[in-house]
Amino acid sequence: MCHGCRRVSLVSLLVSALDEPLKRALGTRTAGALGKLGLETVGDLLSHYPRRYAEPGRLTTMSELTLGEHVTIVAQVSSVGVRRRNRGKGMIVEGVITDGVSRMSLVFFAPYAGMAHTIESQLPVGATALFTGTVNRYQGKLQLAHPSYRAIEDPDDEAEALVDASKPIPIYPASAAIDSLKIQAAIRTVLDPLRREDVPDPVPDEVRRAQQLLGRFAALQQVHVPVTMEEAYRAQAALRYEEAFVLQAALARRRAEAAAEPATARPAAAVGLLAAFDARLPFTLTDGQRDVGVVLADELAASVPMQRLLQGEVGSGKTVVALRAMLQVVDAGGQAALLAPTEVLAAQHARTIAAMLGPLAEGGMLTGADGATRVALLTGSQSAAQRRQALAEAASGAAGIVVGTHALIQEHVQFADLGLVVVDEQHRFGVEQRDALRAKGRTSPHLLVMTATPIPRTVAMTIFGDLESSTLTEIPAGRAGVSTHVVPADNAAWVARTWSRIAEEVAGGHRAFVVCPRISDTLTEPADVVDHLADDESGPESRHSIAAVEDVVAQLRGEPALAGVEIGMLHGRLTPDVKDAAMADFSSGKVPVLVTTTVIEVGVDVPEATVMAVLDADRFGLSQLHQLRGRVGRGSDPAVCLLLTHADPETPTGKRLAALAATTDGFELAEVDLRDRREGDVLGAAQSGRTNSLKLLRVVQDRRVIERARTDARAVVTADPSLDDHPVLAAAIARTLAGEREEFLDRA
Ligand code: ADP
Ligand code: MG
Repeated sequence: MCHGCRRVSLVSLLVSALDEPLKRALGTRTAGALGKLGLETVGDLLSHYPRRYAEPGRLTTMSELTLGEHVTIVAQVSSVGVRRRNRGKGMIVEGVITDGVSRMSLVFFAPYAGMAHTIESQLPVGATALFTGTVNRYQGKLQLAHPSYRAIEDPDDEAEALVDASKPIPIYPASAAIDSLKIQAAIRTVLDPLRREDVPDPVPDEVRRAQQLLGRFAALQQVHVPVTMEEAYRAQAALRYEEAFVLQAALARRRAEAAAEPATARPAAAVGLLAAFDARLPFTLTDGQRDVGVVLADELAASVPMQRLLQGEVGSGKTVVALRAMLQVVDAGGQAALLAPTEVLAAQHARTIAAMLGPLAEGGMLTGADGATRVALLTGSQSAAQRRQALAEAASGAAGIVVGTHALIQEHVQFADLGLVVVDEQHRFGVEQRDALRAKGRTSPHLLVMTATPIPRTVAMTIFGDLESSTLTEIPAGRAGVSTHVVPADNAAWVARTWSRIAEEVAGGHRAFVVCPRISDTLTEPADVVDHLADDESGPESRHSIAAVEDVVAQLRGEPALAGVEIGMLHGRLTPDVKDAAMADFSSGKVPVLVTTTVIEVGVDVPEATVMAVLDADRFGLSQLHQLRGRVGRGSDPAVCLLLTHADPETPTGKRLAALAATTDGFELAEVDLRDRREGDVLGAAQSGRTNSLKLLRVVQDRRVIERARTDARAVVTADPSLDDHPVLAAAIARTLAGEREEFLDRA
């Protein structure tokens, strides 16, 4: 065999038909246009599924047309022309078609000239074509507006064309460079020559059979060329399941890999810091806190690393649960690291934990209890001396608990014996960051991830599918809670009432937050603080400017109702010292009104805060507002959250705010929020124009599919952890999720 031949056959062995570049399959021109949609290979193109299907029309003749009917007719073009629209932008293509007996008109609206001329050229006078559309009447005459059409070049093809016309017409996500029809043609070109063995199936046969789903080859054919709508739906179901299955298999593998690394068992001690802490707790744990505590205690006592997600309603007391787990580990001779997303939050955690522990955290001091440990704080902006001390305490083991921001992940940070990593408010941390911190243990540390806000179950399964999950639903007793009201910001009397309400609360010894979407005209919070301001920017934006911290501070200082009340300011662009001072003055009551941004969204805990006014509340996502209002009502006095908005109550935005005022169930709100926002905002990647591994799957709607796929995928991975017997699945995981998984997990 010649050298060259051998190479060719090797290549054809390694490269499956689906990996063939579109350039080679379709030519550079079409491939170039498809490339702009992120489609590079035959496999990519076949995974570019129709967005929807146009129903075939009833095949009829012109003389039998009825108004409003969806029809398909065969007719000849008797005139066609393009003109500019009288009003509005764009062009109009007008035509007249005839079946030899009757005539009717056609009209197409085209946003730009190129498109109009394409239509014109595809329907030259004399051409015969199939037209499908809904019959309407314009200026007394029957017409088809925007029919789909297909030219019949050879009259002998008419019969075949009629058969095709009775099938659903796939409508593809298209672009200015390539329209749906051309995409359909390109797909047919690559799909028609494929054989079953060219299309490996990542879902094992027995799973497909058990779920009664089409195989991948059949599913691809029927999703692109369905004979009936039932076929299209069946194909979509199979492909949707496949997406869920591959993703869940990837997560199951990740979980299996982490579980395979041995951990050090950290069993609870009969006497020690945890027992002493429990004895000095000023409240009793809720049932939920106790139950989750038992689960964590057991998992920490095992030599398999714990991998657990702790979800909880805002204010449900996740920190205490985490602290008890940390103390168990410290009692067993290990250290715990607590990772927080912002400096404000890290500093606050260190302070609250030290305060809750009291003498138990005063190791090495005269006041310290027997066996006391230390709490070290490590953030990026500390002084060199503070940093040196924290690093030394972490490395020597003197600090049983090390709290920090991303700074904790850096290479030179060392622990004597890291046994537990707690990640607070996970959605700001990525998988890699988790892993980097994990790598600092001698054995694999146990892992506890806490979410900032409740997230719907399927989202948890999708984003944190490699973790076991526990939920705290209960809010500790003795909390007065928050009542929420929408305040029309255009009504001066109501706005004035907001300020006087704040003044009353302050006079009663309480504190107030005033939250703004922006820092100033030109400044918003850095991206790591604000990551999901509502993007639908609806609302009468043009009529007023968006509330900004700097302006509102000035405004409130001049507000008669608040005369004599100190007004402070906190946002993410202040230096850490200034931020700490602002928080401290607010906590102590020296400055009882704090004008701020979403920096206070996560975890800030000031029990005396009883009122929060959110300005331009429609600018925030529902989950975010829920999280924000969780900052008040944490003490025994009832609290109120006032959502000021210019949005009309009858608009979707107005209704969203009303929904928030009507419920305090964070899980319910999270679902509403997710349904409203584009899926991609939650799972990342989608908007970037790159292909996303989730095409048909919708994380909220497809709960049952995701649950089924998760069970199946876990069974497959448990039986074959290395996936040696499932090479196609292993390849699908690698291909679909390479880079992208990290990307969306990071951002989620
Ligand atoms: P989150 O779950 O939102 O992070 P935290 O852990 O910050 O909630 O707890 C909120 C507040 O509730 C804290 O001040 C905490 O000390 C208090 N807390 C926690 N558990 C209880 C309980 N069982 N009874 C009363 N107060 C509690
Ligand atoms: Mg918290």
